Order: sequence, then C-alpha cells, then structure tokens
Amino acid sequence: MRIDVFTLVPHAFAWLTEQRPIAGILGTELELRLLNYRESTPLRAGQVDDEPYGGGAGMVLRVDVVAAALERVYGDASPARVIAMSPQGRPLTQAVVEELAGERHLTLLSARFEGFDERIVEHLATDAISIGPYVLSNGDLPAMVLLDAVARRLPGALAAGSGEVESFSDELGGGLEYPHYTRPAEFRGWQVPDVLLSGDHARIEAWRKEHVR
Ligand code: SAH
Repeated sequence: MRIDVFTLVPHAFAWLTEQRPIAGILGTELELRLLNYRESTPLRAGQVDDEPYGGGAGMVLRVDVVAAALERVYGDASPARVIAMSPQGRPLTQAVVEELAGERHLTLLSARFEGFDERIVEHLATDAISIGPYVLSNGDLPAMVLLDAVARRLPGALAAGSGEVESFSDELGGGLEYPHYTRPAEFRGWQVPDVLLSGDHARIEAWRKEHVR
C-alpha cells in the first residue's frame, strides 16, 4: 500500500516511521511519502495560507496551494482516495480503518491554523475524516493516528495472530478486549486470576469470552 501525506511539517512524522508497526513494513508492505505544501506552493516566500474572506481570526490553507501540491505529485491523474483530516469529517472507527486498509493508495491532507479552504474538501478531497469530537491544532496528529491504525492492519505489521483478536474486531463481536496479565503472578497481594495460570485452554478461552466488554 502507498500512503502519501501532505503536510507543513514532514519531520514531525520521523518518530512514527522509526517505530513499529510502521518501521517494520516501510519499503515492503507500506510505501510512505511525506510531502510539504511549501515545496510546491505557487506563492512567493513559501506562503500557503491566507486571511479568511469575511474577516475573523486565523489563517486558511489555500486551495491553489493544495491543488499545486497534488499536481506536482500526481500530474493529471487524480488519486483514488484523498482524505482531508478535519473535525467536520466522518468519525474514524475501526470499521473505517478496515475499509481504508483495503485500499492500494491513500492520500492524506493535513491543515493547520483555521483549517482548509472549503473548496479543498469539496473538490480536491474525496473524503474528510475526523479522529474525534475535539479540536487539535493541526491535522498531522490525526494523520499519524490514521496512519498507525491502518499500518497495523497490513500484512507483517504485527506479530502473527496479535492483530486478529483485538478490541472492536469481529472476533470479539465488536467489543472490547478481555484483560491481559503477565508475571509476576502476585504483586502487592494483587493476584492474577487463577484460571489463567491453570494451563486449561478451554477454561481460559471461556474466561476470556466472558470478560469481553
Ligand atoms: N477551525 C476549525 C479547526 C481547525 S484546527 C474548526 O473549528 O473546526 C486545524 C486543523 O487541524 C484542521 O483543519 C484539521 O486538519 C486538523 N484537525 C483538528 N482537529 C481534528 C480532528 N478532530 N480530526 C481531524 N483533524 C483535525
């Protein structure tokens, strides 16, 4: 899968690409490009934003700047899924993550300041996605959230089996995963449930099913 992220701060993504799951699949299952709007802006001095028509505080990411950035990378061929990260977008859920993980190519648009000129969302993007009902200062954190959630669904991203039975998965009926414990079996008097130490796989399975939340 290829994911292209358009941003003003490509370096902000560095840590994400150095960590699993993304680090483990970069260059194989995942091709990631971080593209800076400033490098292709048709405006002088790297300008990418402007004052809002109608007045008010803050700056708005310009439509001509985003169009130029897309054109530089794709030419006339418009990419299949162009997702604007926006609080006004469709809420990101595990079902949306699964849908996106099935795509061959995703393009993510991040904004800062007051956000996008609406014509970007209307004409240049195919989707708008929100990572939750709150406002962040930029679309880079949301793009990283989406990237991480999608990347861990790609083959080879996780240790075999560990991505199957998880919170929100069909295997757990969309519920929340049962609790996990590891050594020591007792700490400050806090005990691990006996059944998990029993070695009786049928009972362990039953306990886990019962504790899906
Ligand atoms: N003025 C906007 C907020 C802009 S925040 C409003 O009131 O809705 C600046 C940018 O951060 C947004 O354009 C978007 O790219 C990103 N952003 C902020 N919160 C987000 C969220 N919950 N989900 C996705 N993107 C978000």
